[in-house]
Amino acid sequence: MAVAAEFMLSAPRPEHFPKPDTPEVALLGRSNVGKSTLLNTLVGRKVAFSSNTPGRTQAANFYRVEGGSFRVVDLPGYGYAKVSRETVEGWKQIVESYLLSRSCLALGILLLDSRRAWMESDLLLKEWLEFHQRRYVVVATKVDKLNQKERNQSQRAIREQYPSGELIWFSAVTGQGVKEVWQTIWKTLNQ
Ligand code: GDP
Repeated sequence: MAVAAEFMLSAPRPEHFPKPDTPEVALLGRSNVGKSTLLNTLVGRKVAFSSNTPGRTQAANFYRVEGGSFRVVDLPGYGYAKVSRETVEGWKQIVESYLLSRSCLALGILLLDSRRAWMESDLLLKEWLEFHQRRYVVVATKVDKLNQKERNQSQRAIREQYPSGELIWFSAVTGQGVKEVWQTIWKTLNQ
């Protein structure tokens, strides 16, 4: 199933967010966890750029999906390379203000690198999502890099902090999890 998606705008600060008139699915997680790869895999085309791309790091990138019936928002990731205090503040401002006030946020997708499970900034995001009573799912990325034993360990580590919520194992290499992520998105948008 091909889903149409196009880049809409890049918002370096909350005042650049588009009008909240369309449901949004937000991708959250550390830099390099695989957010742009997830979006590109979901739509079967390269619409999103890696956060390693200069200039993309600290902005929230908005994508129009299915002719504008909903949007995907790639929120800036935390923790890639060394960042200055101003950069951390910029990241906090944009992500926090998004989670705090975005009335059209329908679903948060919290991406964890399956090899690392929870890192401090992931737990912070999780707390924010729960505190602001946002609906979210956890997607464990790069599962193709784990053998069965490592995957079991990863599952235990993820479940320690997230005992019963929806957890999707994802690989852009094998396509594992693509269907599940779409099903979760459609289910949420149709509610
Ligand atoms: P972002 O910073 O969160 O947008 O992360 P990217 O999507 O740019 O991914 C960071 C790196 O991880 C890139 O080199 C990707 O090719 C790689 N990557 C992302 N997802 C997967 C995956 O499912 N499997 C493997 N093996 N590599 C992945």
